[in-house]
Amino acid sequence: MLCATAGEHAGRRFPVPPGLRYRVNRAPANAPVTFELARELVRALERFAEEAGFSAARPVEIEFGPGVVGHHQVGRAADIYRVGGKGLGEWKRRWDLRLGAAENAEQRRCLARREGVANLGWRIYKALQLYGRWAQPYGYPIQLFGPWTREEGPWKHISDSLLAAHGDHIHVAK
Ligand SMILES: [Zn+2]
Repeated sequence: MLCATAGEHAGRRFPVPPGLRYRVNRAPANAPVTFELARELVRALERFAEEAGFSAARPVEIEFGPGVVGHHQVGRAADIYRVGGKGLGEWKRRWDLRLGAAENAEQRRCLARREGVANLGWRIYKALQLYGRWAQPYGYPIQLFGPWTREEGPWKHISDSLLAAHGDHIHVAK
């Protein structure tokens, strides 16, 4: 848990801490990030875990992986690779498989509603999108990228190469 104010932690970095309803893996895979980014992640992840039905007695596992370039070098970005014991790429393949059975837009909406309850990859992506305030450098899109970016936003015009680069994880920066 993070209990202090941002001012006290200026310049320091922390692995993303566990929450009440979610657990995290350790450093070095859970790479140290700034206080501001850790706080934003804790808020969004706790809400994800609560809405997805997890509790202190039955927390969900979230696994980070080390990033290399850009914002990662200064602790301002984090990559989430696994949730609930499955990789983000696995969750996305499951999503595509289930929704691929739809014969029209109405069926697709119906299947998406159903799959959206159980698919923790989609749920964590949407929670980060809805509840997190991520960086948007001047002239760049909001820094939330993952397997669902083209369908769900925030940057639906994501290039094929950037989408492919985030096919197995979610990247956020703050
Ligand atoms: Zn990243």
